Amino acid sequence: MFKTVLLFTLCFSFSLAKHEHYDGYVVYKITVSDKQQAERVYALENELLFDVWSYAAPSIPGLVLVPGPMRERFQTEVGNIGAQYELQVDNVKEVVELEEKLLTTAASRSKKRPGRLSFDKIHRYAEVNSFLDDLAEKYDTVTVVSAGKSFEGRDIRYLKISTTNFQDTNKPVIMLQSLLHAREWVTLPVTLYAIEKLVIDITDRDLVDNIDWIILPIANPDGYEFSHEHIRFWRKTRSTGHTITNLCVGVDLNRNFDYNFGRWSSDIACSEAYHGKGPFSEPESQAVRNIVLEHLNRMELYFDVHSYGSIILYGFGDGILPPNGLTLNLVGVKMAQAIDAVKWPSKPNYLVGNLGLTFSNVSGTAMDYVQGIGVPLSYIHEMPAHNNENNSLTGTLVDPNYIEQAGYETWEGINVGARWVLQNARRNKH
Ligand SMILES: [Zn+2]
Repeated sequence: MFKTVLLFTLCFSFSLAKHEHYDGYVVYKITVSDKQQAERVYALENELLFDVWSYAAPSIPGLVLVPGPMRERFQTEVGNIGAQYELQVDNVKEVVELEEKLLTTAASRSKKRPGRLSFDKIHRYAEVNSFLDDLAEKYDTVTVVSAGKSFEGRDIRYLKISTTNFQDTNKPVIMLQSLLHAREWVTLPVTLYAIEKLVIDITDRDLVDNIDWIILPIANPDGYEFSHEHIRFWRKTRSTGHTITNLCVGVDLNRNFDYNFGRWSSDIACSEAYHGKGPFSEPESQAVRNIVLEHLNRMELYFDVHSYGSIILYGFGDGILPPNGLTLNLVGVKMAQAIDAVKWPSKPNYLVGNLGLTFSNVSGTAMDYVQGIGVPLSYIHEMPAHNNENNSLTGTLVDPNYIEQAGYETWEGINVGARWVLQNARRNKH
């Protein structure tokens, strides 16, 4: 009897345990009226080690995840700053459970697409890996490469797509990347959709013939798997050794690159914006760096997909524009317009801007590093936030109905960026 009860209790707590972490957590929407307020709110969120889902900027409200017991203190201090707060989600556990239910239901009705991955679910690391292997076996244009191992030993795998096996040094290289931040699940269909268009459908023959593509779908595999298995909003890597007790795990990869390293990130291991022990301390950021360095003389466009905010950002995170700032803005606007033309009417139009000027100053991003070492066009692409019909899903949570659309609409933007590269690549100017 005791055994039965114990077993029942264990099973019951196991099924509940997954999202129990978020019981009582709330999400606040923060509205600021000027940049100074934005900076003070961000400093407060950092000091309290909160998980900032999106920065509040004068024209863009931000979202922040707050543990229940911290609510009153946070409200008082935000009030003292003069910013506005509004409760967006009153129990985060419930919305995470809702997302899981919606995704599970959608997946149970999923139709097989022979030779392809479906766009009604968020595929796991192993599924993506076998898809990449299948493509490499079937298509001459495709090679699968490992850029090294993650902290936990997973291969960081990317696809090279080329009609000339990367041997034609006159071709520009474009790199697409998703899931540098583990929880940003909806970025995965963006790179998978691009792969499908470039390898299987070949809807744009000129883009396949004249460009060498590098596509890295899961840049942070350890964090990604952890976000599926344990903590939904896990953002960082899973590396240890940052504190004596290993109480706080992981590094924010998008603060770990060597550009202004450490200036506007956190040196506290428990922070969501912890930058790590030094630039490129993480094998995952080393992997991205090594890919870019290998193709630096030919890489024209680097496109790092994140979630969320409906915004295309370019360097630098300190608010200083690169010498080609106007071009970065121009191409960013062209990509944004192409997405806006096919986006769901319920989603806002894309904004385009400099990272540091649009939000607070940020340091150590992959985008800044890649721009800084000489790739002409380097972007952070923030996908739209997800709000399902009754508005209960928000932030990085995924509405299964949006998965295919996420891939489709973003591809329209990537397509325009690639065409701009074809017409204006550095080689054409010599
Ligand atoms: Zn991100």
